[in-house]
Amino acid sequence: HHEPLFAQARGDIAVSFEFFPPKSDAMAETLWSSIQTLAPLEPRFVSVTYGAGGSTRERTHATVERILKETSLTPAAHLTCVGAPRDEIDAIAREYWDLGVRHIVALRGDSPEPGTKYRQHPQGYRDAADLVAGLKRVAPFDVSVAAYPEVHPDSSSRAFDLENLKRKVDAGADRAITQFFFSADCYFRFQDEAAAAGIEIEIVPGILPVSNVAQTRRFAEMCGAAIPDWLNGLFEGLDDLPAARQLIAATVAAELCGQLYAGGVRHFHFYTLNRAELSYAICHLLGVRAR
Ligand code: FAD
Repeated sequence: HHEPLFAQARGDIAVSFEFFPPKSDAMAETLWSSIQTLAPLEPRFVSVTYGAGGSTRERTHATVERILKETSLTPAAHLTCVGAPRDEIDAIAREYWDLGVRHIVALRGDSPEPGTKYRQHPQGYRDAADLVAGLKRVAPFDVSVAAYPEVHPDSSSRAFDLENLKRKVDAGADRAITQFFFSADCYFRFQDEAAAAGIEIEIVPGILPVSNVAQTRRFAEMCGAAIPDWLNGLFEGLDDLPAARQLIAATVAAELCGQLYAGGVRHFHFYTLNRAELSYAICHLLGVRAR
């Protein structure tokens, strides 16, 4: 017996949306129109990423500030500790707090030179867990951290990766957001293992609606996520049919969300890539409606 997944407007699902800071005026326009489209869905928060090695520090700050001042949304600022001394990171966090930002997504970040391993700055935070502890010393932020259902590429084992997540929780993390994945079973296995490891915070699935498999493959290679063969195959022959690709992207992501919902998930985090349509459509299918 299966309840129809897409039958009714549900009031029990929370969503959040992730954006990246725009690089040009044209990209800024796309972002702001996307934010306006998605805002009526009343996301729990909207997060703004921090470019590799802190390269978008000013733009992340400006985007977060604009969200705070021009919308009624709750912004979450991503912050990484790579390549910067602790006092610099603390100063950025204090500035956010003074501005009225209450939610930080705390990340370690990656080495700015591709292919080389992360190295702690001599006066820097050691890793994300250390950063979380530092942020909580600055102010009582709501802190989200990253989690990896398919294991982070730097991790020696699943157990080590779970221990690392546990260290972030012990340092004060309030929730985890996962790297994207395409198998609900993979998420549920991770959730079970996290629970067995004593991790009690919410693990929010990060949903990436895929309409461009080549681009997704590039993301996936960097972060250790697997693109299943069936997903590769789905986009074969559709290079010149963008509308068909969009419909398939929404269908695949909504199906994944439906399976996660059936397994008890009630908060979904969308990697929007600054586009509203796919995330909006998937939310609608899930029964998330504008109020
Ligand atoms: P950590 O939790 O510190 O650890 C990463 C891995 O390294 C873990 O697997 C752990 O097992 C291992 N490890 C940790 N500490 C040690 C240690 N002391 N010794 C040995 N191994 C260790 N990147 C950006 O640059 N900007 C962003 O805005 C951004 N947003 C993200 C949002 C989400 C939801 C996710 C999932 C990722 C995001 N990232 C972002 C990517 C992230 O910075 C990278 O995945 C990075 O490689 C790891 O960051 P982390 O916070 O998970 O690190």
